[in-house]
Amino acid sequence: MARVYNFNAGPAALPLPVLEKAQAEMLDIAGSGMSVMELSHRSKDFQAIIDAAEAGVRKLLGVSDDYAVLFMQGGASLQFASIPMNLRRPGKSADFVDTGSWASKAIKEAKVTGGVNVVWSGKEESYMRTPKPEELNFSADAEYVHICSNETIGGIRFPEFPKTNVPLIADMSSEIMSRAIDVNQFGMIYAGAQKNIGPSGLALVIIRKDLIERTPENVPIFLRYKTHADEGSLYNTPNTWGIYIVKLITDWMESIGGIAGMQKINEGKAGKLYSVLDSSNFWKAPADKASRSIMNVVWRLPSEELEAKFVSEAKNAGMIGLKGHRSVGGIRASIYNAVPVEAIDALIAFMKDFESKNG
Ligand SMILES: *Cc1c(COP(=O)(O)O)cnc(C)c1O
Repeated sequence: MARVYNFNAGPAALPLPVLEKAQAEMLDIAGSGMSVMELSHRSKDFQAIIDAAEAGVRKLLGVSDDYAVLFMQGGASLQFASIPMNLRRPGKSADFVDTGSWASKAIKEAKVTGGVNVVWSGKEESYMRTPKPEELNFSADAEYVHICSNETIGGIRFPEFPKTNVPLIADMSSEIMSRAIDVNQFGMIYAGAQKNIGPSGLALVIIRKDLIERTPENVPIFLRYKTHADEGSLYNTPNTWGIYIVKLITDWMESIGGIAGMQKINEGKAGKLYSVLDSSNFWKAPADKASRSIMNVVWRLPSEELEAKFVSEAKNAGMIGLKGHRSVGGIRASIYNAVPVEAIDALIAFMKDFESKNG
């Protein structure tokens, strides 16, 4: 069996111990004589799994009883539509910070159904940084403030989150559980699972319970947060497999020291990689240093030809997923929680060799 070093942006690497555990339980979970995918979502066995997944998320992130933890479908992208429908009441508007591709997509979707104020945009600067707190002037009457805490394509993140008087909502798809956060700073956090905490087809939503009551009458029942909160994420058939993998991942994270342990490893991985990028003019990491993501590391080589050569030779050396997003080009290494330190070390050795031959 040959496993590659996987730098895919999403779906992305999963922890090997999690895959092995899922493999071992594939044909018979908890003595049920069935795979998890064959269990009824109304069964006691599945209830134990979803309860454990929720408990794992709550423990790792320190989520209090003031918040609901929901497992939803439609990815982070459906949240772009359902957040404004639920939390921006008729005739009102919400504030958005435009830090890149994903923030822009959330803005575009929110505009379909109502008022949007873009209070800051990095577009003119090619999305090279997140704003400083003093650059943000929020509207007095906004229903909430929306940010993308880590821009997966541009490779930038908020080092600290803005302070707001109204609920702060963050798309954390590409960094959820990668660093310590204070959930109480947010009205809502959401994430597609497939970057850091599971497979595709599942979105994690952590929402303050009072906000769940805000939804206007005209929102379809399925799209209301209350529907899913009242039914413990079992209003309809959820992604049972995805929820099971989230449970295994939270167990795995606990075993390596929780989010504090994870953050330390992640900062070590990113720090190593950025120090190589900073060590020579052959590489150019465009993101502003203060805004650098520790999950998605983006850089350029002297020419597009060299970039293509880099990606293809890396692939031959067992390192995949290094091509930058098609909208920005260049190289991107997505180094999520499940990407081991050895993958970074292999990448760095490859980079040094590549530079000595092509620099
Ligand atoms: C991948 C990603 C999304 C889209 O997630 P889907 O689950 O595919 O809808 C949204 N926001 C960010 C920051 C992402 O990285």
